Amino acid sequence: MAEKRDYYEVLEVSKNATPEEIKKAYRKMAIKYHPDKNPGDKVAEEKFKEAAEAYEVLSDPQKRQTYDQYGFAGLGGAGFGGQTMDMSDIFAKFGDLFGDLLGGGGGGFRMNFNGQEFNFGGGGGRRQRRGADLRIKVKVTLEEVATGVDKKVKVKKMVPCEHCHGTGSNDGQTETCPTCKGSGRIQRTRQGIFGLQVVQEPCPECGGEGRKIKNKCPHCGGEGVIRGEEIISIHIPAGVAEGMQLTVQGKGNAAPHGGVPGDLLVLIEEEEHKELIRDDCNLIYNLLLSVPTAALGGQVEIPSLQGPVKITIPEGTQPGKVLRLRGKGLPQIDGYGRQIMQGDLLVNIGVYIPEKLSRDEKKWFEQFQQSPNAAPGAAGKKSFFQNLFG
Ligand SMILES: [Zn+2]
Ligand SMILES: [Zn+2]
Repeated sequence: MAEKRDYYEVLEVSKNATPEEIKKAYRKMAIKYHPDKNPGDKVAEEKFKEAAEAYEVLSDPQKRQTYDQYGFAGLGGAGFGGQTMDMSDIFAKFGDLFGDLLGGGGGGFRMNFNGQEFNFGGGGGRRQRRGADLRIKVKVTLEEVATGVDKKVKVKKMVPCEHCHGTGSNDGQTETCPTCKGSGRIQRTRQGIFGLQVVQEPCPECGGEGRKIKNKCPHCGGEGVIRGEEIISIHIPAGVAEGMQLTVQGKGNAAPHGGVPGDLLVLIEEEEHKELIRDDCNLIYNLLLSVPTAALGGQVEIPSLQGPVKITIPEGTQPGKVLRLRGKGLPQIDGYGRQIMQGDLLVNIGVYIPEKLSRDEKKWFEQFQQSPNAAPGAAGKKSFFQNLFG
């Protein structure tokens, strides 16, 4: 990702902006870059997230003060310093700040209301409830990152009630909701940004569905969903990395009364490898050679994700030299999971200098010390002093 932009710059407000001005500016941005107005537009999505992050900080007097004083560095730990906000977090936190303005017609959008999500169909009619997203963490080894892997995970979640087939009704009969007269919405006056506002909200009686169940299913209490679990297959593409999030659509919680299920959000956790270190798509192995092997050369076996590999150490290999095994690293993927390149395995050569020597070994080294090739610069050339006095 590019360098973080200044929060004031993101919201296009001055450093002295009042909280009202900041709120107004954020609303403008959130509406402009709302994902439902810009479907599939990654740039708009980034801008939407960027604005939410800026607003999260600047709308909180304490965080704003810290940011003014110390910049981004001051926010590490507090808030979500450096971490990009997740879309559902944004809807959960600020959803009703811009939700009203987008309502009524159009392509339909998602918002979070009282912790429950709703899918607004186009035309501003009744809505279907949407099940909540679920988050799980999945551990992957570097071997799995190299090839990609399919994992089956058991997830505890809300599943449709079998007795009423998810309808929540004991007998399949429903009646028009008396509170909203079937519209699914109620009007309420509340203190808004520009003074008192009349807002439309999902009807609390029927959850926005416009109809109520006559006789509730005794197994699920009329909700149509019960606690259960599901074994879900997750395809993890090659090249994933710690902190990446995959979305498995429709595998989150089932929605009450047969609505749209939420998504399963899979956070990738990378297990540390015993011998190999990951550096983006490259792998690093620190190889320590014995003094004789570095001097004489030879074959050495090193680990790789595809199993042990034999490499040839040339005669006179110096510590600090890096040998590159092309293609033995990890795939690099773009935001769509497509491979864009393949990394290498880099072998960092070090030379082990014995820490303890027997008398014999000491003798060998002392003898070798006298040898003309023991010191640097000796090979084939005269030394500095030999040049001066030789
Ligand atoms: Zn109602
Ligand atoms: Zn039921």
